[in-house]
Amino acid sequence: MALVGVTMERPLDSVLDLQKALNELQRADERLHGIPEWMQELHEQHTARKEEIDALEASVEEAASERRLAEGEAQAAQEKLKTYQEQISSVRNQREYGALLQEMDTIKDTIKTLEEQALTALERQEESQTSLGELKEGFQELDERYKAELEKWEAEKPEVAEQVEELKGRIAVLRERIPPSSLSLFERVLERHGGQALAEVRTIERAGRGQQIYSCGTCNYRVRPQAVVEISNSGSIVFCDSCKRILYLDEATG
Ligand SMILES: [Zn+2]
Repeated sequence: MALVGVTMERPLDSVLDLQKALNELQRADERLHGIPEWMQELHEQHTARKEEIDALEASVEEAASERRLAEGEAQAAQEKLKTYQEQISSVRNQREYGALLQEMDTIKDTIKTLEEQALTALERQEESQTSLGELKEGFQELDERYKAELEKWEAEKPEVAEQVEELKGRIAVLRERIPPSSLSLFERVLERHGGQALAEVRTIERAGRGQQIYSCGTCNYRVRPQAVVEISNSGSIVFCDSCKRILYLDEATG
């Protein structure tokens, strides 16, 4: 590389730089918008605990509303029982009396069941409430630590945002250095292969004769020796015949 004059344009170098800048941009974007790696574990812990708390809060609420419902129904049954009791004085015969007593027994059973339901729900509500209190108490420390990390992350963001802008500028400059036809091919390959448009040329030594053969490091398709010479000597942009990725040489290969 040192022998190559500075004025000599090697289009492949710009492509390599462009791919590198695009990768850096992606990483910077992830740092800006995703959860940074250094707080990933804490984030997961925090989310899991938060979900537990939410679930417990929901079960407290559920038990409470079950209790209210049972209490409401018990109260309505009590009212009904009261009207039956008031009717006792106005029954006209033994048969009517017997029927009324039967109704009253039924409603008393209903009240008993409803009251038991309300009590069970109350016990469940209190139990969940106690667990919730404990969980929240334990969560406090984690939550504070999480908030501190979030703040640290926020503080990092302007720098990363600046980096993103810088990279975008660099990418624009590099794109201009690449011949338009190659650039549009590069971008098509980039899109097709999840943001990675390059493939390293692999050298395989043919057994016995010492003659080297080359293949695409990604799809394994043969690479013509002439293509390797072109890449090596003039930094040409050469596409793999099979996967169409742009081929480059590892320093040791070139
Ligand atoms: Zn290939």
